[in-house]
Amino acid sequence: MIQIDLSSDTVTQPSRPMREAMATAKVGDEQRGEDPSVNELCARVAELLGHDSAIFLPSGIMCNQVAICVHCSTGDEVLTADISHILQTEGGSASAIAGAIVKPIPSNRGIFSVESLSELLRAPSVRRPRQRLVSMEQTSSRGGGAVWSLEALRSVCDWTRSQGLVLHLDGARLMNAAVSSGHKASDFAAGFDSAWLCLTKGLGCPVGAVLAGSKDFIAEAWAWKQRLGGAMRQAGIVAAAGVYALDHHIDRLAVDHANAKLLGDLISESSRIDVVPVDTNIVIFDIEDNPDQASKSDYDQILESLGVRIRNEGRGRYRAITHIDVDADQIQRAADHILDVVDE
Ligand SMILES: *Cc1c(COP(=O)(O)O)cnc(C)c1O
Repeated sequence: MIQIDLSSDTVTQPSRPMREAMATAKVGDEQRGEDPSVNELCARVAELLGHDSAIFLPSGIMCNQVAICVHCSTGDEVLTADISHILQTEGGSASAIAGAIVKPIPSNRGIFSVESLSELLRAPSVRRPRQRLVSMEQTSSRGGGAVWSLEALRSVCDWTRSQGLVLHLDGARLMNAAVSSGHKASDFAAGFDSAWLCLTKGLGCPVGAVLAGSKDFIAEAWAWKQRLGGAMRQAGIVAAAGVYALDHHIDRLAVDHANAKLLGDLISESSRIDVVPVDTNIVIFDIEDNPDQASKSDYDQILESLGVRIRNEGRGRYRAITHIDVDADQIQRAADHILDVVDE
């Protein structure tokens, strides 16, 4: 049985008070815009991100894909970090749904510079795909929760806009970036034509994500939501969890960050473990092969038999993510197990 699940921050269970907020939520037909809890959630997120308006969607992937559909025509090019979620983990949907090409921008843990982006931009030509959208991820998930500094993010935004392209922010873990940097989410989201945050990662909700933008952008997003089958009915049942999380689960992300740092520090004690710097709630680490062991170990499987779950990323790389359902004691125990199996 898994006692300490660090495989993702998506494994959290809705708490009792969150379930109570869900059970007593006022609801209506969301597809007609008549669900008061969904409307409240959207108004709250629009304000949090400093945009005019917002739309509730079933998942973060749908936020990315609806935004790409609104911003791009078929054949257009989307530029995004080489390790971004849009490129790596969305089943090729930018091409399957929007008919867009996605071009990888070389990055350092998902963070790229104006220079690396500018090398990929070219003069418009009928022979070339139209370069339309730059998407940035805050925090960078595969980059180990790396945070764009406000300065770096703004310089890419300003330059991109000066080149006539539009901007999208994949803010699945935007609140982690806000809490760890001390900046407001709206400071990060300000320069973007569309920006969203996930309710099901650090915020600990069971379902949903909210995409924000201008009134016109959101009107177009509604057309795509309907087309893709993302329009719902009494969705206030789940939106109420989101409202609850905005009130109770943002400041506490600092605890997840401290726990991630603790885990990183503890497992660094092994000379065979190399930890990528821990910026937020994601700990990525490489385990060096043990020359005394005949075959390569899958440490995640050994750990799973001990009740600790982490994710195997392949080639000796592992990932652990902290969240609302793990505390510092469990982190200490997980670290002890990791050190035991690696250094046995
Ligand atoms: C999780 C995640 C998504 C997708 O969200 P889902 O709700 O799983 O569809 C997109 N981008 C990033 C950076 C993510 O971490």
